[in-house]
Amino acid sequence: MKRLAILGSTGSIGTQALEVVAANPSLFEVEILSAHSNSALLIEQARRFKPNAVVVTDESRYNEVKEALVMQQIKVFTGEAALTDVVTWDSVDVVLGAIVGFAGLSSTLAAVAAGKRVALANKETLVVAGELVMKLAAEKGATIIPVDSEHSAIFQCLVGEDMSRIEKVILTASGGPFLGRKPNYLVNVKASHALQHPNWSMGAKITIDSATLMNKGLEMIEAKWLFGLRDDQIDVIVHPQSVIHSMVQFIDGSIKAQMGLPDMKLPIQYALAWPYRIENDWKRVDFRDYAKLTFEPADYKTFRNLAIAREAMERGGNAPCVLNAANEVLVNAFLQNKVGFLEMSDMIEKTLESVPFIEHPASLEDYHNSDAEARRYALEYAKKSQLSMY
Ligand code: NDP
Ligand code: MG
Repeated sequence: MKRLAILGSTGSIGTQALEVVAANPSLFEVEILSAHSNSALLIEQARRFKPNAVVVTDESRYNEVKEALVMQQIKVFTGEAALTDVVTWDSVDVVLGAIVGFAGLSSTLAAVAAGKRVALANKETLVVAGELVMKLAAEKGATIIPVDSEHSAIFQCLVGEDMSRIEKVILTASGGPFLGRKPNYLVNVKASHALQHPNWSMGAKITIDSATLMNKGLEMIEAKWLFGLRDDQIDVIVHPQSVIHSMVQFIDGSIKAQMGLPDMKLPIQYALAWPYRIENDWKRVDFRDYAKLTFEPADYKTFRNLAIAREAMERGGNAPCVLNAANEVLVNAFLQNKVGFLEMSDMIEKTLESVPFIEHPASLEDYHNSDAEARRYALEYAKKSQLSMY
């Protein structure tokens, strides 16, 4: 029996994690749930899964949640500090980090500092401060199990392998809804269109990141830190069917791939149950349904975010943190039709040029400062967009 803290329980990953929990009541128990502002769903989840405590980080929702759960004797907390506290409780065995964006960093770090097992979906944590997070994990004996499907695939391919025998990892990308499109088309696309992902149903931010290929850029950086890779060991290939979730090539030329249908419940379940595999009755891949599995190079010229992210990864220091902050601001602006699709890359690039480079961020505070400064610049640039109505 594992007792879980599910951070971001109202999101796409969080709700799917609760489906996995509901299907395996003898294996998992919910100790903590957290949401930001979706109080209605958080209350419903708390009544159903009966956690010891819930955290609603948006303080304006605190009273409503508190009153709704008073009869159930569920503890209710609010604010980010509560989140960093509850993950350290002795009663928590596994922390699922499924908050979106930089907002997930402090709770992930707190769980790692407490030596917890962390099932990590919140890729932004590793993009922003991967070096710090992995160093702390090694020091404190915390285990980080990836939930992101590509990294779960790589993690599964590495079972029983010697890490020093990896030649490279090959991250697969679906290509998103605009695969094959060129700038003359992309210049006019709107959020409603970009939100239609062909293979995966996910939260809004990562769906836009998938359309711009920033998601794959963030995943390169995530892979670098998770698996201790050099930049030149990380490759990306477009595979529109999303059946191969990623591959590892070893020094003898042998390649291992992990496959399955595109359904996040599988990597979520794997991360929660690790090192065990547990049974389920979900649909399986039938190769007769696929006449072809195809592969093509990623178009770094059209989807410039991929090139910009690679450069930020190679530059290191606070560059990935700045990249991430600018991207969060601009994706948010794009979702509100305040900047254009292609403008996002221009503005991320300008933000990277504007924020002073720090080669060796010394502390969490350095990352917080770089994040805040990048957000200020990115917002300034967004306001200059023709579409802007700020
Ligand atoms: P969603 O937007 O669907 O959910 C985000 C969750 O985080 C919600 O519970 C939300 O609460 C909470 N949240 C939002 N802002 C804050 C904040 N400031 N403080 C605390 N909690 C907050 O995102 P996804 O589930 O799609 O993604 C979660 C993470 O997993 C992301 O990092 C993403 O990149 C990663 N991931 C997601 C995949 C997917 O299939 N969805 C696949 C691979 C990785 P509320 O609902 O109350 O706003
Ligand atoms: Mg992914």
